[in-house]
Amino acid sequence: MPIYEYYCGACHKRSSFLLLRVSEEIDPYCKACGSKDVKKLISRVSVPKSEEKRMESLLDPSKFSGLDENDPRSVERVMRKMGRELGDELGEGFEESMEEALNEPQSTPEKDF
Ligand SMILES: [Zn+2]
Repeated sequence: MPIYEYYCGACHKRSSFLLLRVSEEIDPYCKACGSKDVKKLISRVSVPKSEEKRMESLLDPSKFSGLDENDPRSVERVMRKMGRELGDELGEGFEESMEEALNEPQSTPEKDF
């Protein structure tokens, strides 16, 4: 479930909108003052540029010791460990996309890794 954050140009407060579906349209406004002068902030699900290097080091094969890629539980354990090391910034979105990935059939071709 994506969370969109908007920054209010009038009162400089943030408003968060939780979307039930990615395709859902929202009409953003400031929840503090009602202004429509709001600017979308980067989704907290996305990984900042500075995190990319960190991601690379997390994908170091030595981190995957004991990983049996045919065992979804084993994969999940490693993914959760990675998620913890990355801290809260990836948050729920990370866990969610991870769970979606794990729920997909095993025949899914490798892409991101
Ligand atoms: Zn406002």
